[in-house]
Amino acid sequence: SIRAPASKQTATLQVAVKCRPLTDTEQRRSRHIIQVIDDKTVVVLDPDLSKDYLDLIQNRTKERRYTFDHVYAPGCSNSDVYKNISSTIAGVVQGLNATVFAYGSTGSGKTYTMVGTHSDPGLMVLSFRTIFELIKKDDSKDTFEVSCSYLEVYNEVIYDLLERSSGHLELREDPEHGIIVAGLRSIKVHSADRILELLNIGNSRHKTESTEANATSSRSHAVLEITVRKFKAERPICERASETNNFGQKLRDGANINRSLLALANCINALGKQNKKGLAYVPYRNSKLTRILKDGLSGNSRTVMVATISPADDQYHHTTNTHSSHADRAK
Ligand code: ADP
Repeated sequence: SIRAPASKQTATLQVAVKCRPLTDTEQRRSRHIIQVIDDKTVVVLDPDLSKDYLDLIQNRTKERRYTFDHVYAPGCSNSDVYKNISSTIAGVVQGLNATVFAYGSTGSGKTYTMVGTHSDPGLMVLSFRTIFELIKKDDSKDTFEVSCSYLEVYNEVIYDLLERSSGHLELREDPEHGIIVAGLRSIKVHSADRILELLNIGNSRHKTESTEANATSSRSHAVLEITVRKFKAERPICERASETNNFGQKLRDGANINRSLLALANCINALGKQNKKGLAYVPYRNSKLTRILKDGLSGNSRTVMVATISPADDQYHHTTNTHSSHADRAK
């Protein structure tokens, strides 16, 4: 199999913010501190400013205003978000890498955004459906092979979530394929439903259990990668594409931002500068997670980060942290 050529295209990065609605419990005890101004601008009100919500809205002096590529208000569905990334996902079947991930504190809506519900299917579900629909529609004589792997980076150790009792996996530099996770299981799949089944199996094997709702950050990152190989009717060509996501953080210990998460934030920031000013140094080598994601974040890749936030006042510090790390993306 031949890897798709590292094209001259530079990677593109889209940073979006999605604010979830207040949950039923929050309705009773929390105030809403997020105001979506338009589809690119969000304001976070300082909950300490005043106890009176109306005062907060009127007193704009202490507000924090942030601009992103897209801002999704609490009423938005996952499909609304997906509309702005569907072309990125469609590119996968043409051999363009795509990486989509959710970033945010526990309880901010990462799982909801990526997996979703029956009535509001998440970005992963919608992406997998698109990929299989496009393959079905392809009227050339080419054949496609889709496979799926699923791993977890926990405290800088890599585990295979599709392997019942996975040992520690190592990263290797492969001359043909770049950075690979040696021994990672890759399963051939024929439908979006099958991928979701594997996702559920993998999720039941997470190293971490669900804990406190307001844990600051997670030491666990899950990466689901879909590889689409296209075999030309004449000669076999392999086009590698991946979709990754980072979701479901369940923190057990410590409130410190772990190495992988910090390294990811640094890479995303460097990529953001690269988008605006041309080439920039992107420090992929600083953690396992960013080394794994390197192909998905560089070269002919398109990356979508959805920063998820809660509208509740007790999440103010998480929300401004998330924003300050990634604000002002709009070109
Ligand atoms: P995380 O994965 O970041 O820890 P979750 O996705 O589990 O957070 O979301 C926390 C809670 O908020 C869940 O009860 C979830 O159902 C709810 N929630 C998140 N986003 C939405 C949304 N857009 N609409 C309705 N409920 C949501």
